[in-house]
Amino acid sequence: MTPQSPHYIQSIAPYQGGKPITELAREMGLNVHDIVKLASNENPLGISPKADYAIQEAIHEIARYPDGNAFELRGVVSRKFNVAPDQIVFGNGSNDILELAARTYLTPGDEAIYSQHAFAVYPLVTQAVGAAGVVVPAKNFGHDLSGMLAAIGSKTKVIFIANPNNPTGTLLAKDDLYAFLKQVPAHVLVLLDEAYDEYLPVVHKSEAIGWLREFDNLLISRTFSKAYGLAGLRIGFGLCHPQVADMMNRVRQPFNVNNIAQAAAIASLADEDFVARSYALNQAGMLQLTTGFDALGLSYIPSFANFVSVKLPDATQVNQKLLQKGVIVRPIANYEMPEYLRVSVGLFSENAKFLEVLTEIVRA
Ligand SMILES: *Cc1c(COP(=O)(O)O)cnc(C)c1O
Repeated sequence: MTPQSPHYIQSIAPYQGGKPITELAREMGLNVHDIVKLASNENPLGISPKADYAIQEAIHEIARYPDGNAFELRGVVSRKFNVAPDQIVFGNGSNDILELAARTYLTPGDEAIYSQHAFAVYPLVTQAVGAAGVVVPAKNFGHDLSGMLAAIGSKTKVIFIANPNNPTGTLLAKDDLYAFLKQVPAHVLVLLDEAYDEYLPVVHKSEAIGWLREFDNLLISRTFSKAYGLAGLRIGFGLCHPQVADMMNRVRQPFNVNNIAQAAAIASLADEDFVARSYALNQAGMLQLTTGFDALGLSYIPSFANFVSVKLPDATQVNQKLLQKGVIVRPIANYEMPEYLRVSVGLFSENAKFLEVLTEIVRA
């Protein structure tokens, strides 16, 4: 008999990530080079050449502990985003920021609010600390902000909002989000997850960092995993009031961000050209995918991120057939969207292969 974990741990549904390329290669007897993975919203361009160089250099330092305060990176982020150094918390991926927020602000019996079809990590971090998740039904696949306000009760301590949201790609209007923040009680932390902000066109880019001056209960999370391409290195950060940062830093593992990740992040922030190329490739690839869906008569949820969810009544079977042909996308039944597959925007050739195989399957 093994030790008993609390009931709230036992009831956590494990996270289901995108299938790794090597796993599919083993299962189907395929060559890894013939497999196209469009399942985890990774950057198909890889990483910035500047980050690549910084990584090679930083490898020589790995016998040393990293700088637990990330002094140099903190300075770079502070200048780039126009926040004070003590308003920044670094995480092992922005997932770590979500977890730190939960561990810092939620206790058993408290409630965290998030939307139906919102990012799967919100329930995970909430349940892991014994708090209860309050799921607000989505509106047109996006967050229903009035519904979320109405769900606030005496036990509410945290509200999670993904903008754009994963896996729906929906975006909240800035005015609506601002009006929402105005109405949330000051003792409730609002975690605004902006993992995909770099993929937004200029008009839609978040202005929430400027709102930090007004809302002491706002925590914005950003990541290097998506447009910066550093998903495998695990680094992200939170921007918030210095007192919120102070509390989260008490809970944080002292060395949660490794030195290679810190060096790569510094170099990545200096390479605006790479982000611009990633943005442009994504715009073109999104058009390529949606044009393909239109041609097949398939409906999809218009997306503001680097992925799009397409509707297929027999999504499970289509996914199985895609896998047999070496194409990995993401089934999202666990997001209460069993009729959809989420497809990350890849390189032109990857999108083309996916569409070609999808066409064969749908037309068969
Ligand atoms: C991918 C993603 C993240 C980022 O996760 P990391 O831990 O930074 O790799 C955060 N939030 C959302 C909504 C995401 O889709």
